[in-house]
Amino acid sequence: MVSFRVDIDDLAAHQFRVTLTISQPPAEQRVSLPAWIPGSYLVREFARHLSGLQARQGGRDIVPEQLDKASWLLRCKGRAALVLSYRVYAFDTSVRAAFLDARRGFFNGTSLFLRVHGREASRQSVMFGALPKAWRVATAMRVCSAAGRGRPSYEAADYDELVDHPFELGEFWRGEFTARGVAHEFVVAGALPSFDGARLLADTQRLCEAQIDFWHGAPGRSRRSESKPPFDRYVFLLNTVGEGGGGLEHRASTALIASRSDLPRVGPDEQGDAYVRLLGLISHEYFHTWNVKRMRPDAFASIDFECENYTELLWFFEGFTSYYDDLFVLRAGLIDVPRYLKFVAAHLSQLLGTPGREVQSVAQASFDAWVKFYRADENTPNATVSYYTKGALIALALDLRLRGAAEPGGQGAAKPSTLDELMRALWARSAGGPISEADIVAELSKLGGNAHARALLEWVHGKAELPLPQLLERAGVAWQRDKPTLAQRLGLRVSESALTGVQIKQVLAGGAALAAGMCAGDEILACNGWRVRRLDEALLTTSAEHPDRLHWLVARDQRLLELKLQVPPASASGPSVSLSLADKASPRAAGLRRAWLGG
Ligand SMILES: [Zn+2]
Repeated sequence: MVSFRVDIDDLAAHQFRVTLTISQPPAEQRVSLPAWIPGSYLVREFARHLSGLQARQGGRDIVPEQLDKASWLLRCKGRAALVLSYRVYAFDTSVRAAFLDARRGFFNGTSLFLRVHGREASRQSVMFGALPKAWRVATAMRVCSAAGRGRPSYEAADYDELVDHPFELGEFWRGEFTARGVAHEFVVAGALPSFDGARLLADTQRLCEAQIDFWHGAPGRSRRSESKPPFDRYVFLLNTVGEGGGGLEHRASTALIASRSDLPRVGPDEQGDAYVRLLGLISHEYFHTWNVKRMRPDAFASIDFECENYTELLWFFEGFTSYYDDLFVLRAGLIDVPRYLKFVAAHLSQLLGTPGREVQSVAQASFDAWVKFYRADENTPNATVSYYTKGALIALALDLRLRGAAEPGGQGAAKPSTLDELMRALWARSAGGPISEADIVAELSKLGGNAHARALLEWVHGKAELPLPQLLERAGVAWQRDKPTLAQRLGLRVSESALTGVQIKQVLAGGAALAAGMCAGDEILACNGWRVRRLDEALLTTSAEHPDRLHWLVARDQRLLELKLQVPPASASGPSVSLSLADKASPRAAGLRRAWLGG
């Protein structure tokens, strides 16, 4: 047995104390802390927050021998239990590590629990020492009934499971619902008093039921009795903050962060965009319970916690999940079709505004996630493409293709199918385990012949534009390019405010700003001799004779520079796209749209 006890060592100093007891250790026991947390593809070196490691066995001290940045060796004598004790500094406000202050605690096992080499397959238990009086504990880890004296302990079947159930500690709001017979719990920390918990529960329940029905069939005759969700209980852990967002998926829970103002409020029944985006995040992480936590890349068949685990398939596991997240908000009846199309248009605009889509394929972007997507900098939009955004649009294109939108007249089309059918076929093929690109291609070919598979491979491994304008038109959706903003015409991304003025964040490849010598980090002070505090103000400084001449004064590293450029004409189309229901859709296009989006 491997047992962990978690104590609060010092709230104000953000320190947990962990005591690890290993029964019957071998003569040489190696332990290590993971370098990364599954679902977030960056080596984060969690061991940098571990300190003061001590060990005792049978009443004697053992000096830990450090082997590398995250591993130690303990030389034991006899089979008496080995007891390790160490502190973990916890002040990371994300969902990926650990946090502790006077208000709340949160941790992932990858931050707190040493891996006991050779005992990964053993049962692992967790118990807590004294916690502040009003604090409670929330987690999807199984409560162990053998716990004594009122304080529960928790148990995981093995190390992989141990580190896949995050814990929330503190005073939090908690609600429950049942979805298709499965217990669900929703914990919200830090909410404002006006928070409408009943609304959040009701909307989340609809999302969960829609997804359970998607994977396992709707209640009634279509559901096979043996097909049910691969978890007995599911827990949403949402921490709300002043400003922030994010989520991380786990096998029976998810850790989420949202702004307090994103939560639904008691009173008016309007659905702000921020709340709809939160529902999209909830939907996204819940979908991962099937798509990446169980069905997963073959490279994740068994996780190596010590180093990068490379896969080319994140376009499928993140991108297709991103396609389905908003789609389920629509399918659950929480938004209407025009609003859904706005989310699709936002994805399209983001992709078309990223020059890196011509540099990298989504398969390469997946493989490089460890050094590119998760290490974003000012060059990111020029060098990389998001496997989330483009992956979601590939899912959309494939769904429309499968539904018959690839054939202009509909003659000679393969039997129409759907992406839903592909996902379920893959779920059955994988038995909830690893899959490869070849599996995806094989199931796709079964559904609709080789043409679909060939198209998918081109989109995934190539850099050409996706044929979405045509596909959407044949699905009764009108596509319109918006008038570009000045930033888009110049190829700039800036931050700006009346207080701080204009700062250049990114200069896009191929743009007028790059040609003029503008640089990330530049502060734009003036244009044509006039002070500007917002980029668009520059257009007010041009004269009738030279309507497109912008002479900039910028500050760079304490020096002032003058840079000159001609603005490309406003008539040129920008990267932003609007989508709407086409007024004059053919009966075939209207039928395809109804089958795809309902209503
Ligand atoms: Zn995701």
